Amino acid sequence: MSVPAKKRPRSEKRKRAIQQALKKSKYILCPKCKRPKKPHLVCSYCGSYKNREILKSKLDKKELKKLNKQKAKTAEKQK
Ligand SMILES: [Zn+2]
Repeated sequence: MSVPAKKRPRSEKRKRAIQQALKKSKYILCPKCKRPKKPHLVCSYCGSYKNREILKSKLDKKELKKLNKQKAKTAEKQK
């Protein structure tokens, strides 16, 4: 049989309420376009996952060119 609500301590009620609270969603930066994306999911902007293009990107051709140029620059710096 269940215990009436008035006989339950406040702490018990609050402990239960914690489990129902909304949790802050986690975000990471996409390694390709540096925009925030959810971990373990395809990036919604550039459509890449693990540095492979999976979906068609929402980015303009100009933006993609810029990104490729930046990548080339960073690659040169590493050498
Ligand atoms: Zn991206």
